[in-house]
Amino acid sequence: MYRDIVEWRGQNPPPASMMIISDQVVRDGDLSWDLARLQQRTQYNLVLAYSKERYDSSSDVLTSGRWEWKKLLGSEDNNNNNRIETRIELSAMLCCKSCNFECQSRVKFRKYLSSYKHARQEYVYPTRSEPDRVTENWGRHYPAAATPEHAAAKILVWWDMFDCPIPEVYDARRVRPSIEAAFRKLGYSGPVSITAYGDFNVTPDHVLRGLTSTGVDVAHTIYDVTYKRMYGDLLEGQESNTTPTNIMVISDTHKIFAFATVGLPQKQKHKLFLAYSCRPYKMLNLLTCAKWLWHSLLEEEVSEERKYIGESESRAMFYSKLCFCDWKGPDYKSRLDDFKTHLLSEEHAQEEYKITAFLELKRKMRNLSLLVQYDREQWREANFSY
Ligand SMILES: [Zn+2]
Ligand SMILES: [Zn+2]
Repeated sequence: MYRDIVEWRGQNPPPASMMIISDQVVRDGDLSWDLARLQQRTQYNLVLAYSKERYDSSSDVLTSGRWEWKKLLGSEDNNNNNRIETRIELSAMLCCKSCNFECQSRVKFRKYLSSYKHARQEYVYPTRSEPDRVTENWGRHYPAAATPEHAAAKILVWWDMFDCPIPEVYDARRVRPSIEAAFRKLGYSGPVSITAYGDFNVTPDHVLRGLTSTGVDVAHTIYDVTYKRMYGDLLEGQESNTTPTNIMVISDTHKIFAFATVGLPQKQKHKLFLAYSCRPYKMLNLLTCAKWLWHSLLEEEVSEERKYIGESESRAMFYSKLCFCDWKGPDYKSRLDDFKTHLLSEEHAQEEYKITAFLELKRKMRNLSLLVQYDREQWREANFSY
């Protein structure tokens, strides 16, 4: 079936709608990985019907409609059924995929299926249940070079400093120009906005200044909530943003990255880019235009005059993602000072403590419920085994 879907896509360019009646389009279903990648390259309108048992509301494949198969069959006015049936019988093609046999007569088809020839063919060419992944051999970067639509488009960078910190001897002022240089090499020259998520209570002052004086926004978080805040901010507004946008994530949270953003290139004209400190061990279901190793990205050649813009010109924003407050006044120096004062304040410490305590409690509760579950199972086994 999947081979036919792929073939049909090849012969019928979008816009077009496809309906898939299968339980394999849910997350981790046989079709979802490959289909999600195909949809990022060419967008078809997809609708899905599924049996209730296998339904899982999360899927990597974006659909415009989903029906439960049984309800779909029962929902329409039933008095039309007879007429529909006759029409289908007249036009439906009956085929055996193992033999490449096709006919329109039901009697002939039945007879063929019970024939010696068919049994023999099916033995040699059994119908495989695992679909061929046609996107598996697509290049690692797809397609790296900028299309005219994306060449001048905005570049939004979301950077997790816990996973990808700045090396100790590295000049923080070089981060922005290095990222810009890497994008320019591929033909992307749009305005770059970078938000760095990290613990700025423990970040050295020269790093904080180096980043913000070059226009990198900083967002204070703690490790446990970083990815939640970062992907929350990334998705906010993007699902409804129809302007082509280049989105880059610098993080090792590959799985969450794929989970959070796989819908964007299927729905919007967004391109995705990724930098990480270690490669994902599995190929992602996301089509990224480029992937970089964080350390090699930082080594991009940067021309001297691009490196430093004057501090006073910096428009960098400061956020506390724990207290949900920000500093965006006109003067850089006072923004920086207010941010630093806030991070040392009692008010901020209280908020940070509250979040940490809550997460700790959640962990304890989870462990406790696992213990109870284990004990219950042991008890059941001891009492009911013969
Ligand atoms: Zn056959
Ligand atoms: Zn705060």
